[in-house]
Amino acid sequence: MPEGHSIHRLARQFTSVFAGHRLEVSSPQGRFAAGAARLDGQVLTGAAAHGKQLFLAFGNELYLRIHLGLYGAFDFGGDSTFLGASSIGAPRKVGEREIASDDDGGTYAGPPPPRGAVRVRLVSGHGWADLRGPTACEVITDAERAAVVARLGPDPLQDEADGAEFVTRLRRKGSPVGLLLMNQEILAGVGNVYRAEVLFRQRISPFRLGRDVAEGEAADLWKDIASVMSDGVAEGRIITTLPADRDSGAVPVPVEEAHYVYKRTGLPCRRCGTPVAGTEMGARKLYWCPVCQER
Ligand SMILES: [Zn+2]
Repeated sequence: MPEGHSIHRLARQFTSVFAGHRLEVSSPQGRFAAGAARLDGQVLTGAAAHGKQLFLAFGNELYLRIHLGLYGAFDFGGDSTFLGASSIGAPRKVGEREIASDDDGGTYAGPPPPRGAVRVRLVSGHGWADLRGPTACEVITDAERAAVVARLGPDPLQDEADGAEFVTRLRRKGSPVGLLLMNQEILAGVGNVYRAEVLFRQRISPFRLGRDVAEGEAADLWKDIASVMSDGVAEGRIITTLPADRDSGAVPVPVEEAHYVYKRTGLPCRRCGTPVAGTEMGARKLYWCPVCQER
């Protein structure tokens, strides 16, 4: 599932290529036909992310709310001005696939015939975006958007995000911190990779209860999450390890695969050599080092 950094990159991408443009909005698959009709012909005024939620704002004061879930993804394509406007230049992960160029600098012939189940298609004079397989795709009002955001915890990727609010929400709970980091009402945007990696980086056991995390530890956790996720926005991939902790074998592991514990069950911990442990928590695989994260 794309974590918050991917959704923030998508918001930047939409702002970059579509903001200020009048869009044709359709649902080639048909499932979103009624919603698309409410947005068709409107100007996209902006795009924003809160955690894993993407909100596209339109001139008629309606929003398109999208949650990609496990399988959702956007494809983009267009002419050279559209592609040149893109804010995304680094490698792309799930949820923000490679941008396809339809032309070789010639004239833009419009979007290609839809392939597969395209839930929503957005088309400007210069390019297009296709969405497939989202968990949520709906038209909402500003009040409804505010209600969605109010249910979520702070998003560490927003400049105005309130880290103290995260600390309070985390320390109020009697559940394991490994579970709480995935709870979007505690903080918004963290998924399975960042959960495992930041708990290792902060040497906190995923089984420690939220209320047993000291205030300073929780504040450090927040800062570290904000820091690695900001790197994720800039890089377009999740990088959590320091260069000194990465493999130095004959075949170097790509930096985005060189995690501390994520998907490393049974392999030696990069810091202490103890086999990395794995179990399930919150219906997702959890990874940790029993020595480095003893408590
Ligand atoms: Zn270790």
